[in-house]
Formats: sequence, C-alpha cells, structure tokens
Amino acid sequence: KDFRNKVKPNWCPGCGDFSIQAAIQRAAANVGLEPHDLALITGIGCSGRISGYINAYGFHGVHGRVLPLAQGVKMANRDLTVIASGGDGDGFAIGMGHTIHSIRRNINMTYIIMDNQIYGLTKGQTSPRSEAGFKTKSTPDGSIEASLNAMETALTAGATFVAQSFSSDLKELTSLIEQGINHDGFSIINVFSPCVTFNKVNTYDWFKENLTKLETVEDYDYTDRKKAMQTLMEHNGLVTGLIYQDDSKPSYQDQIPGYKSTPLSESELKLEKETFERLANEFM
Ligand code: SF4
Repeated sequence: KDFRNKVKPNWCPGCGDFSIQAAIQRAAANVGLEPHDLALITGIGCSGRISGYINAYGFHGVHGRVLPLAQGVKMANRDLTVIASGGDGDGFAIGMGHTIHSIRRNINMTYIIMDNQIYGLTKGQTSPRSEAGFKTKSTPDGSIEASLNAMETALTAGATFVAQSFSSDLKELTSLIEQGINHDGFSIINVFSPCVTFNKVNTYDWFKENLTKLETVEDYDYTDRKKAMQTLMEHNGLVTGLIYQDDSKPSYQDQIPGYKSTPLSESELKLEKETFERLANEFM
C-alpha cells in the first residue's frame, strides 16, 4: 500500500502542507485502503496541489467547488473512499455555501481544510480565517473583519464529525483522518498548516503556544454538542482533537432506496435510439 508517487511537491520548504500529505498517506494505509480505493479531490490554492502528490485517483477542480465534485464522485461510486481537500479561502470564502450544505447533507466522505489563515498561492492576502488586525497586501492597515470560527460554524450547521489538528502533530492528525474516513457520514477536519512564506503571525511557535489539546480539557465529551460549542468559545476555536461526533444520524446515501444495490458507476447506461443518434451526431 504505497501512496507515494514520484511527483516532488513544489511547496515552500517548511510549509505545513507537507505533513498533511504524509498524514493522509499514513491514514489511508492504516485503514487498509489500496491506492485504487481512494479518490482525492482538491480545490485551488497551494493546498490544491496535493491531489497530484498522492498515489490515488486525483482531481484538481476549480476554486471553491471541491465539495460538489467530491460528493458527485462518492454518489457515483460508493466503493471509493473520498477525501476532499482545499485551503481556508477555498472552503470558507468562495466555497462556503457548499461547505455548509455538504455538512447538512452528510454524504459519507472526509473534508480536510489546510488552514493557513491567508491566501498563499496569490502571494499573501487576508482570508476569512485571518484574525482582525491582520496586515497583508490586501489589508495594509489591518483587517477590520473578525476571523470566521470554522468549527463553531460546522457544529451549528449540524455536522456529525468535527475535528481540528495541527500539521506538526502528525500522530494526532493521522488518527483523526483515520477516524474521519471510518465515520459513516460527512467528516470535516480543519488543520492549522503554517504558511511560512506569507503568514508571519500564525507561525509554528505561535500555534505551539496557543493551541489546547482537547484530551487535556477536564471531562471533555466529544458526544456532547453543547460542551463542544462551549469549549470552542472558551478557547477562541484554538483546540485540537476530536471536537464532536454523532454516530446516530444516518448518512445521505443510507437514506436513498436502492443506492446500495445499484450504484451509478455499475448501472447499465441505457440510451433511447433517438438520444444516441443525436449525441453521435453532435460529438462524433
Ligand atoms: Fe505553503 Fe505558503 Fe509556500 Fe503556499 S506560499 S507553499 S502555503 S508556505
């Protein structure tokens, strides 16, 4: 089960995305997948390149549209394990509508956000995850807007699996991705992934000083949604670990009659003679 390929990532040396790539590869191997069992769908941004760096099916989509693509793949072929991945700009700005409705829909797949709190590929502009006061080329006097609390938003939208990690904590991150893959529903995992080139505030040292592991929070119970929300608010969202999981809600697919017996990828394509001739004339 070798999820490595020969493509060398062109991320900046020290970028947090390297560790996320390693964690996905390890988690996929640990849960017993083969490369042909995994589809990795990505959005636009530095993080979006990851679909080219892992030995699995990959599709690099357009900005903010990673989730419609990934859900389509899962609905067409239930046998694939589907991981969608993209940056915080991709998922929480242009793609925010898809993020909220994917959470509500609860299709069985995993969404990993590589959260560097800035737009890195376009050379450093403020993103929805940048803190108020954050100075970049697009906000030279400091951002006026407050940062989006992504995990609180996910809980509010009805997520059945919410987790957060730090790219440097490979052990925790790998374990959370494994749990997300095994969760029967939509799992959202936000990963703090420092952009060493453009984000000089949220650095490795900054995260080490400011993050709290949920396993150190007394009496934390990841099945208690109210406690999860309260803990996020108390720590300004800066926690890592499994924040919330609800196993009782059925996935979207499980509620579709016939889905399990006839996945789209195995259905016979039946075209009426007239339709076939029209398509043949148009495309051949
Ligand atoms: Fe990583 Fe930032 Fe470089 Fe992009 S610009 S590869 S996010 S360090």
